[in-house]
Amino acid sequence: MPGFRTRALHAGQEIDPATGAHAVPVYQTTTFAYGDAARGGRIFGGEEKGYTYSRILNPTVRAFERRVADLEGAEDAVAFASGMAAVQAAALTLLEAGDELMYLGPLYGGSEALFTTVFGRFGVTVREVESVAELQAAMGERSKLVYVETPTNPTLRVHDLAEVARIARAAGAYTVVDNTFASPYLTRPLEFGIDLALHSATKYLGGHGDATGGVLAGSAELTARLRSTGVKLAGASLGPQDAFLLLRGVKTLPLRMEAHCDGAEAVARFLEEQPGVARVYYPGLESHPDHPVAARQMRRFGGMVSIDLEGGYAAAQAFLNHLELFTQAVSLGDVESLATHPASTTHALIGREARERQGLGEGLVRLSVGIEDPEDLIADLARGLEAARQATLAAR
Ligand SMILES: *Cc1c(COP(=O)(O)O)cnc(C)c1O
Repeated sequence: MPGFRTRALHAGQEIDPATGAHAVPVYQTTTFAYGDAARGGRIFGGEEKGYTYSRILNPTVRAFERRVADLEGAEDAVAFASGMAAVQAAALTLLEAGDELMYLGPLYGGSEALFTTVFGRFGVTVREVESVAELQAAMGERSKLVYVETPTNPTLRVHDLAEVARIARAAGAYTVVDNTFASPYLTRPLEFGIDLALHSATKYLGGHGDATGGVLAGSAELTARLRSTGVKLAGASLGPQDAFLLLRGVKTLPLRMEAHCDGAEAVARFLEEQPGVARVYYPGLESHPDHPVAARQMRRFGGMVSIDLEGGYAAAQAFLNHLELFTQAVSLGDVESLATHPASTTHALIGREARERQGLGEGLVRLSVGIEDPEDLIADLARGLEAARQATLAAR
């Protein structure tokens, strides 16, 4: 099999049969002519493959799906309008009233809220467990879906996927892993026996912060079901323009991930030595509790780093306000560096008590390390830390 870099460029991409276009064109059309009445009947009857309507399938979107399927080592993939649309499609397709959804918390806030506030209303029991050991004990006859994220947001816990797959399989439950933070370059969940790998393609797959999308990769049988429920019926389809941008972004995924990892490793080692930084969360550091699992399951350790500042919110605020290269904004996985204060933004709604249980304090800052020169990022962080120390002193 060709290498990852080769496949990131070539998988799923064919010379356009109509024009010879080398780049996959943006097929900006809603409907497709069948040519003759009998062919229309064959396509709708499932006897012949063909495009009919862009909500169901579009050639630009299809090229993106085939590329992601290849990179995840999956038989097929289905694309969606956003990462949340992919999460929604997984639950909508795989669960019914009376079933139990188990998740290893904490999850991305949107996913957790969707499960607990929406699927709970349709007769699905939603249960959170905090570790793989607890999952083993909690699995029951009605447990039909195990949902895991790795590394997690924002404390970058890394769960043992082979163990998750083993436990779920023994109970006859499906497994979905949100692989957004790792990307298929660093971790391929299917290799560990997981059924479906999920991405917010908005993040590393696209990589440039200019397109929103989601994708699920797995067996041909499961992805066909996801397409008919989540895309054809629920209508959460990816548009051709966004598919084009995501397809272009994926071409450089392996190069970008190497640069993200170089930057994050340098930043994490620098931050670990700095006064005023109580703790650095990065799975590549020996001090991280999940470092051994991460070393087994990830090619490198990713581009996300979180830190706990000693001075709480005052320190975090001063730190963020003095950064020049890192932009204060949510999202992650862009080529440019981003920084957020989870307690007052992405995790504000869950309340202080839940945040404390998740080890998410007022001094926690999450960094999405971009592909800038690491020494420039370190100089920026040093400026922020100096401001944080001043703010901490002033508050005493
Ligand atoms: C951003 C994100 C999502 C949601 O994706 P959207 O594209 O914003 O809908 C889901 N999971 C994780 C881990 C994310 O970071």
